Amino acid sequence: MKRIVIAIDGPAASGKSTTARLVAGRLGYLHIDTGAMYRAITLKALQRKLDINDRGLIEDLARGSEIHLEKLNGALRVFLDGTDVTGAIRSREVTASVSTVSSYAGVREVMVREQRKLAGQGGVVLEGRDIGTVVLPHADLKVFMVANVRERARRRRKDLMATGIQANEEELVSEIEARDRKDSTRATSPLRKADDAVELDTSDLTIDQQVEFIVTRARTIIG
Ligand code: C5P
Repeated sequence: MKRIVIAIDGPAASGKSTTARLVAGRLGYLHIDTGAMYRAITLKALQRKLDINDRGLIEDLARGSEIHLEKLNGALRVFLDGTDVTGAIRSREVTASVSTVSSYAGVREVMVREQRKLAGQGGVVLEGRDIGTVVLPHADLKVFMVANVRERARRRRKDLMATGIQANEEELVSEIEARDRKDSTRATSPLRKADDAVELDTSDLTIDQQVEFIVTRARTIIG
């Protein structure tokens, strides 16, 4: 059976990760969270107290780092230079700095090369900001997920609360909007919908409906 490549892009907190994980599970595919890779480099820069505005320094850091994604007991774990950083990359400090780190062309070059390698022979669901436009422009199925910002902030707050972190919804709206602005206006590989991507507005959808939408389209292509 044909093992296709699925690209899911979209703004912050639009539900890409949960959806991509479940779609991959339904199809028996590998889920690759590319945002986690940019987050891992950002974490390393913060741990070393590097100036994240120093482009050259951060690009060198990315070139000298080893990021590895692995599925353990059904969940995706992220390793940075051999250390499991799955939880640490979700901190608000990392979230606040990741858009600066990911705007550097030298950082993106390293990540994109790795992502293309991971996509290899197909049977993968990659999610991020530039998968359908830059990383895998020939992906078999491209989905651009959107949701209104209020709904995205509400979901993000619920996720944070599940990990014991209290957050204010208004602050989350501002954070999400600032990150989207930065990701969409950067010079290298800005966030945008590929011309041949299907748009999926999840504002009023359940997770099951989102997953079904993508799996149905994928199965049509698989045949
Ligand atoms: O998907 P997530 O919100 O975890 O992504 C974190 C950040 O990583 C994004 O805000 C963006 O700056 C960057 N990113 C990117 N390209 C990707 C995936 C993520 O620039 N393909």
